[in-house]
Amino acid sequence: MKNIVKKIVILCLVIILLIGANLSYATTESELNSQKQENNEKITETEKKKEEVQEIKDQTVKQVQELDNQIDEYESQISNLNTQINDANTKIEEATNRLNKAQEDYDNQQKMLEERIVALYEAGDTSYLDVLLSSESVTDFISSYYIISEIAECDLELLDEIQSQKTEIENAKKELEQSKKELTDAKASKEKVSSELQTSKNEKANYVEELSEEEKQLQAQIDEIKKDNVAIDAQIKAYQAELQRKLEEQRKKDQANKNNGSSNGSSSSSSSGGITSSSGFIYPVPSAYSRITTGWYYSDGRVHGAVDFGTGGINGQPVYAVADGIVVLAQALTTSYGNYVIIMHYNGLYTLYAHGQAGSIMVRQGQTVKQGQQIMRVGNTGNSFGAHLHFEVRTSPGTYNNRQNPYNYLP
Ligand SMILES: [Zn+2]
Repeated sequence: MKNIVKKIVILCLVIILLIGANLSYATTESELNSQKQENNEKITETEKKKEEVQEIKDQTVKQVQELDNQIDEYESQISNLNTQINDANTKIEEATNRLNKAQEDYDNQQKMLEERIVALYEAGDTSYLDVLLSSESVTDFISSYYIISEIAECDLELLDEIQSQKTEIENAKKELEQSKKELTDAKASKEKVSSELQTSKNEKANYVEELSEEEKQLQAQIDEIKKDNVAIDAQIKAYQAELQRKLEEQRKKDQANKNNGSSNGSSSSSSSGGITSSSGFIYPVPSAYSRITTGWYYSDGRVHGAVDFGTGGINGQPVYAVADGIVVLAQALTTSYGNYVIIMHYNGLYTLYAHGQAGSIMVRQGQTVKQGQQIMRVGNTGNSFGAHLHFEVRTSPGTYNNRQNPYNYLP
């Protein structure tokens, strides 16, 4: 008893697992593909953003270089001003020395003059008698008085001369100081501009760094998405391998059935008249509607890439799988193919059935189908004008670019 319960539980688990597996199996590839497409859109978007960032960065780098050039220019002007200021300082020092020397001369001269004046004063103040008494002779007295007075006058002239020299030097020094002040002011204003330029340059350099960081992050995002895509590709590949394995399994089973004399296939193929082409295909619509109304080319010469079955009254008629296979896509779009199904067949061909009636799809992705099995009803969904079945044959791997002329595959 316990054993039976255990077996039932295990069976239930297996069924749940199988259903679960089948459900995920049924949605996997289209989900993976749309996820991949989403990723590719994100990559394009991120790359565009990255390009914008790069462009702004390039511009900012250029601005930094321009600022650098300006700063260099200012620095060279400042250095030039510094030389001029140093020059002015030297000259001012020289002038100061000369001024000191002149002052010294002046002081000496003044002292000498004072001495002579004292001498004169003493001579003048002294009575003639005193002079006479102290002098050897009158002549001696007169001569010494006048000589002293002459010399004093000379001293005075010299003093005046030194004074005017001193004034001249002072004026020159003042001018030098004025010019130094102007140079210093000019230097200060240039230093201010240079420092502003430096600040602006630093800000821009920081911005460049930020942009580089942003660029790196965007690239990391792109790399991440690309990695994700690689994983998706691997999953798709695994999915397709699994599909292939299932297909092979089915083919072997069918072969075994045929060898056992079982006539499993006949039940369905009758529905489309039972005519089978050399490719093993039957018509995808009932024989009464099997006339091709639009072939490989449109009437205007463009490639149609398919054949259409659009005989009047076809709306709502069954659409059949043209051969055994596995449904690789069953999708209900409102645009493009509308409600459509893609089946992968054992011979490596794919068939596509489009514009089925809304809600008429009877199969799901991952499901095996038999030749002649109804998969949906003829309709007018998607990019269609009037009910018809749009039928494509594709070679492996079954993409749009692998379309073949179905006329060569149909009965
Ligand atoms: Zn068509």
